[in-house]
Amino acid sequence: MAEGYGWKPYRCPFHGDRDASGSVNSQKQVFNCHAADCPKGNAVQVIMQWEQVTFREAVEEQRQYLERAWAEYSPYLADAAEWLEDAG
Ligand SMILES: [Zn+2]
Repeated sequence: MAEGYGWKPYRCPFHGDRDASGSVNSQKQVFNCHAADCPKGNAVQVIMQWEQVTFREAVEEQRQYLERAWAEYSPYLADAAEWLEDAG
């Protein structure tokens, strides 16, 4: 994925990535990875795909989830935590 428009290459936290095949967009607050099995989308969507939970469960889990393992995944996810806080 081309850089620019807020996209930056990122080492995907979801599949032993060594070559930054993931991308994050700090403007759109979304994550994308070129590997087919990896979650894509905004923070809640990524939680849903990775944890295989419903949207409601993802939203309800997001606070404790983000505070634990999620926050370790990337600086983007720290931004996502703030974004989710703002979204209520
Ligand atoms: Zn990946």
